[in-house]
Amino acid sequence: MPITRPPKAVWNELRWICWNRDKRKCVRCKKRVLFDGFHLDHIISGKYGTNKIRNLRVLCPRCHILRACFRHRGMTAKALASGIIPVNWREMVWEDDQKTILKALGKMGSETV
Ligand SMILES: [Zn+2]
Repeated sequence: MPITRPPKAVWNELRWICWNRDKRKCVRCKKRVLFDGFHLDHIISGKYGTNKIRNLRVLCPRCHILRACFRHRGMTAKALASGIIPVNWREMVWEDDQKTILKALGKMGSETV
């Protein structure tokens, strides 16, 4: 999460735009997700993160939790307890490649959004 979070109405609109852009699927595992059931993930969080749509993507709860980002570790215990992730979740953690990160930062040339 970047430092500032947009107002709820704006956030919901961003969710709607990204959900449709990403074809209503988790960009990681390609599983279809419902509007109420997906997580809108900030590719870049913290200081350099923005709420621009190029920095946002649709993830299913499981892929979101399994992202190798310390900011996501807070969700792990709850997800384990509710069975969203298995006990061997550590083997399933994933990371973004450099291309994805540069794109999210708007450093891939023609990206304007
Ligand atoms: Zn997924």
